[in-house]
Amino acid sequence: MPIREILTHPDQRLRRTAAAVPRVDDDVRALLDDLVDTLRDIGGAGLAAMQIGDMRAAVIVDVGRRTHPEGKSTLLEMVNPVIVERAGHVLWREGCLSVPGVSAEVERSARLVVEYLDRDGQIVRHSAEGLEAVAIQHELDHLDGVLYFDRLGALEQKLTLQDYDRACAERTGRAGETESAP
Ligand SMILES: [Zn+2]
Repeated sequence: MPIREILTHPDQRLRRTAAAVPRVDDDVRALLDDLVDTLRDIGGAGLAAMQIGDMRAAVIVDVGRRTHPEGKSTLLEMVNPVIVERAGHVLWREGCLSVPGVSAEVERSARLVVEYLDRDGQIVRHSAEGLEAVAIQHELDHLDGVLYFDRLGALEQKLTLQDYDRACAERTGRAGETESAP
């Protein structure tokens, strides 16, 4: 399965709302495979289909490499996911593959229950806490066209986006240097 290009802010496709998947078929399973391959290649806690330009409501979350001592996969492949229960609050430093080079602390629910269809089209009810709960909330926000910095206060949002612009300019500068190198 191919590794897909990840859209980055301010690409307006990241601001659209995902479409519910009517049926989990081979085409949807191929999308999930692409998400898994792309996430494993780039390294991250989760990825939404929106981020590779596919507007279907599908996300994956895998925090195993960060939370398990042996780095065991805890892959969740979620189609049409909905958070049905939330409890507590937690402040967590988040980054996003679509907003590379910056991070900020975001307030999230500490624990949750999410319902979704798995790759066989079966309804799954999954309880999560800690990093996994944060990652699920972050990825589900993508399906609503929401990026994590939307949830920051005005000043912090401004500073985060200034840092992002600077990081983008540095990346472009470095790319330019590489291109002009002999
Ligand atoms: Zn993200």
